[in-house]
Amino acid sequence: MISAASPAAAVRLGADPVAVELSAAPDRSEAADRAAQQFTDSFGYEPDGVWSAPGRVNIIGEHVDYQDGLCLPMAISHRCFAAAARTPTDRLRVRSAQDETVLDIDARELTPEAVTGWPAYVAGVLWALRSRISGASTRGMDIMIDGQVPLGAGLSSSAALECAAAEAIEALLSLGTEPLDRVRAAITAETDFAGASTGGLDQSASVLSREGHALYLDCRDFSTRAVPWDLASQGLALLITDTRAEHSHVDGEYTARRADSERAAQALGVPTLRDADPVQLDALLARIDDEVVRRRAHHVITEIQRVREFDALLAAGTVREHVAELGALLNASHDSLREDYEVTVPQLDVAVEAARAAGAHGARMTGGGFGGSTIALVEAGQAEQVASAIAAAFAEQGFDAPVFFLALPSEGAGQDR
Ligand code: ADP
Ligand code: MG
Repeated sequence: MISAASPAAAVRLGADPVAVELSAAPDRSEAADRAAQQFTDSFGYEPDGVWSAPGRVNIIGEHVDYQDGLCLPMAISHRCFAAAARTPTDRLRVRSAQDETVLDIDARELTPEAVTGWPAYVAGVLWALRSRISGASTRGMDIMIDGQVPLGAGLSSSAALECAAAEAIEALLSLGTEPLDRVRAAITAETDFAGASTGGLDQSASVLSREGHALYLDCRDFSTRAVPWDLASQGLALLITDTRAEHSHVDGEYTARRADSERAAQALGVPTLRDADPVQLDALLARIDDEVVRRRAHHVITEIQRVREFDALLAAGTVREHVAELGALLNASHDSLREDYEVTVPQLDVAVEAARAAGAHGARMTGGGFGGSTIALVEAGQAEQVASAIAAAFAEQGFDAPVFFLALPSEGAGQDR
């Protein structure tokens, strides 16, 4: 594990005490210092600065982005750091504390084919911004990456990496980009350069999030606004459980869900399910003949409505004042993803059930499903107890041990030093 963890706690639950480690993110300024030191150790001189960007979780609004829906992600405490310096050359040199593969390439000759492996996420950002760089200026730079976001756990280490790189590149080359330009460059890096697929939620959350807030994201026009979600001052926290379940058949299933929801929109005669009226839903859905497609539509339409309700509750008062209703919406989201959208796996369901039974206000899978992570809204003082209950349930089922993270809504991408 990359992250420093708080001391293990043994919690007595039933007959067997289950020791769990809750990984809280290491102190941000210490982590930035460490990245700077790694740069110096690796390149032999001091960096011009250190920039970072966070991973994210989606609080609610799952599998609605491709139907012009609404979602509510937040930046987590775990970040990716980029220590970087401009050089008087045209070489782009990129290294990572988490991966031995290094990149050393003429920055004027970047093509998607020329860069493979993880450095594509960094080189792709420079490539995406190429039209902003004037012809004569050199674009050489050295970048040292040190990430805390676990790779491939569904917490978007890839967006954290791209967005940290985008901050560094903007600052080193003084390109004059706005945050939204960097969001777009990071998306382009992932889709057109690294050859992965992303809807843009991850990069928006990583760049645009504010500390103590969630990010209300309208996937129709990518407009955003900050929504108060100050867990820390309310004695609450978000427990993230990486179930470590193998992602299998994800791409095929994802494509199938998209197709189902497009079919549903067609049957209802609306451009997207965002346009379907959630009032008198049963009467509306009766117009869809296929039972499976009907359930898919039920998920998407009700999930968009749950985001509206979640947002309205947060506008009406503190998280603490509405914690029961917010938790109920999280629970309803998971149940809909399990029953109507069928994107959960046993590990996700067990983690959610165990969290609820152990006193979480609400719990749900987060991300695309078929593996990945769950979130549980918990009293800050009970996080270990809930984690322990999840670990015990996993042991009982014979699942691989899960990994836990504590997250507070954090600040988006920026400069550290
Ligand atoms: P997720 O974004 O959910 O963590 P992805 O598969 O989208 O999963 O991205 C993970 C990939 O991002 C890794 O396989 C690696 O290529 C790259 N990556 C992320 N962080 C780092 C890092 N600190 N160092 C090197 N590569 C990284
Ligand atoms: Mg990713």
